[in-house]
Amino acid sequence: MTKMYYEKDAQPDLLKAKKIAILGYGSQGHAHALNLHDGGYDVRVGLRAESKSVIKAEDAGLRVLSIADACAEADVIMVLVPDTEQKRTYDVDIAPQLSAGKCLLFAHGFNIRFNLINPPDDVDVAMVAPKGPGHLVRRTYLEGGGVPSLIAVHHDATGHAHDIALAYAHGIGATRAGVLETTFTEETETDLFGEQAVLCGGVTALVRAGYETLVEAGYQPESAYFECLHELKLIVDLMYEEGITGMRFSVSDTAEYGDLTRGPRVINADVKAEMKKILTEIQDGSFAAEWVKENEIGRPRYRELRDAGKKHPIEEIGKNLREMMPFVSAGKQKVSDISGGDTD
Ligand code: NAD
Ligand code: MG
Repeated sequence: MTKMYYEKDAQPDLLKAKKIAILGYGSQGHAHALNLHDGGYDVRVGLRAESKSVIKAEDAGLRVLSIADACAEADVIMVLVPDTEQKRTYDVDIAPQLSAGKCLLFAHGFNIRFNLINPPDDVDVAMVAPKGPGHLVRRTYLEGGGVPSLIAVHHDATGHAHDIALAYAHGIGATRAGVLETTFTEETETDLFGEQAVLCGGVTALVRAGYETLVEAGYQPESAYFECLHELKLIVDLMYEEGITGMRFSVSDTAEYGDLTRGPRVINADVKAEMKKILTEIQDGSFAAEWVKENEIGRPRYRELRDAGKKHPIEEIGKNLREMMPFVSAGKQKVSDISGGDTD
């Protein structure tokens, strides 16, 4: 039974009475801390002393403490350091500060779902996971909207875990868009699948394969860039606003006929079979084990693949073309200004 929550369902006073610690000030951290602070919640940010984000958070009017001190003060602790750092941060700085009745929140279930973090039984463990990047959590909040989010309760020690999570989702603006009740397992597995098969992996591979096909056939790289990358946003915006049928209504009949007859040839049964394999590797924990190991050995494959991606010709051509279209990012907060944190 699907449960969606909206503004009227939340009890913000429950969270207004609590001290909140936001750990990390990256993509999600800055957005949660600033939205909650603007809404009158009692927020402190927990950061490592050497973090470049200390200045950014203080300049934004937030109180910054060490991670351990922020956890010691707080009743509600939101863990927004990178997923790969959460276990160490938990063991060293969070666990010693946990006491009965505190609430530990996550924005992604990875470390709980794959048993890397096992909090004590007298602590609430819940999730508030925005279904969008942090810079949109902040931007939509300032525009009066919000990013749809998932909430889940892993362990309810106090009987209030659900209501605290919902109030927190409300505080960051998510109840303006809709909050869906889920489980740590569903959120973790669908999130990993979505980013691997569709949102990040699937779409970047699709764009590059289309670009390469046109360039290899002798067309100008500029044409290939506009066609396969630039226009994608316009199509995705239509889908976002009106669904697939709405998008098809807006494009020409020729485009729609090509979509209907050729789309399933590109994303065919073989592609779907591979998607099922990718999902199985997520469900059986083998992707998680691979990624934990990759981090333990210093990320050699990750760095190699990332560097190769940066060298793809679509990056150079795109950089030049975007310089001639400053309006593309005009007035928008640049992702590079706030995210990526200070991990690299
Ligand atoms: P991020 O990399 O943008 O920021 C992490 C921040 O943590 C850094 O800016 C820094 O302040 C701090 N940090 C970095 N390394 C640290 C370390 N070793 N020890 C302590 N603190 C450190 O991370 P993010 O993308 O905001 O992700 C935070 C959480 O939110 C993750 O669980 C992620 O899965 C989840 N999430 C992210 C998104 C997204 O789009 N970025 C969306 C939904 C959920
Ligand atoms: Mg996601």
